[in-house]
Amino acid sequence: MKEGSGRTAIRGKCPHCGTVALIRKMEKVDSAGLGYTGVMECQDIDCGFRAFFDLSIICTLTESKMPNKKVNLPLSPRKKCEEESK
Ligand SMILES: [Zn+2]
Repeated sequence: MKEGSGRTAIRGKCPHCGTVALIRKMEKVDSAGLGYTGVMECQDIDCGFRAFFDLSIICTLTESKMPNKKVNLPLSPRKKCEEESK
């Protein structure tokens, strides 16, 4: 990430009110770093929704030039990969 601020650039939307929800906490759930869980928080104080989320890396679109041996992901054509993620 090229944000430079040190804060995560990942954002979601609150499923209740549609306001931007910020990621407050994110932890790896496997040693290869393919899965994460975390806490998201709606930025509308009148809504106040907070939730756990989980995030998984499911397939490769472009291979890394610095591959990690722990990472064993299927390499899929873009279309196929997007269909599988639905
Ligand atoms: Zn909300």
